[in-house]
Amino acid sequence: MIRFFCGNENESEQSIKANVKRGNIELKRDSIKEGDVSFRKNSRARHYLVRVDTTGAIILTIPSRGTKKEALEFANEHGEWLRQKQQETIAQKEQSKLCDGSKVLLAGEWETLKITKDRGRPVLTLGVLSSYIADETSDHRWSLSELMKNEAKRWFPDRVKGLATNHNIAFERVVVRGQKTRWGSCSSSGTISLNWKLVQAPVWVRDYVIVHELMHVREMNHSDRFWRLVENAFPAYKEAEKWLDDNSRWMNW
Ligand SMILES: [Zn+2]
Repeated sequence: MIRFFCGNENESEQSIKANVKRGNIELKRDSIKEGDVSFRKNSRARHYLVRVDTTGAIILTIPSRGTKKEALEFANEHGEWLRQKQQETIAQKEQSKLCDGSKVLLAGEWETLKITKDRGRPVLTLGVLSSYIADETSDHRWSLSELMKNEAKRWFPDRVKGLATNHNIAFERVVVRGQKTRWGSCSSSGTISLNWKLVQAPVWVRDYVIVHELMHVREMNHSDRFWRLVENAFPAYKEAEKWLDDNSRWMNW
């Protein structure tokens, strides 16, 4: 459930053409020919089968006594549907890329990812964050995650220190990581681990995650007693949990 937007809807026709160039799949309006498809021989298949795979390629399955010629005739009976399906698949694939113009959350705001140039070198910018990148045309997932990781490493340690002081809690150290399923954790030795993806959340939500983990230094479980500690320290904790529930699908890409 990741949705990024590359370009606007009016450009879809043009962007499909561009995608096709990049994906090395030639979209033609005319009939489907031998070079347009991948054939699969399947002795157990009883009929010709045709499908479009996740890359947008047409896959034709030929039954034991079938021929390529007949398979192609079959494919062309469904030609319009196949071309349509191909276009949709490729457009969808392209949409899930992070590129110039994609909308990404940062500090709770939807920011537009921008790729610009500085003295010939491509630069990626999202809100207040920016860095040089190697390639201006690729999917920018990796560059953006590195940028956010650095921001998280810069921001979280001091913030945790501050909140720990406010609540009079002693912790061991702060680690910023890329956990798949957690926003944070607290070890028995007092190490607070926080997910770098949290830089996409507003500061008050990040604060909640920090306070939650700090309270685990006192109470290593999710008992009623633990939640009372959290509520005392962070009265809006339910709103913060809700924000994370509502927005985590945009934060995991
Ligand atoms: Zn917890």
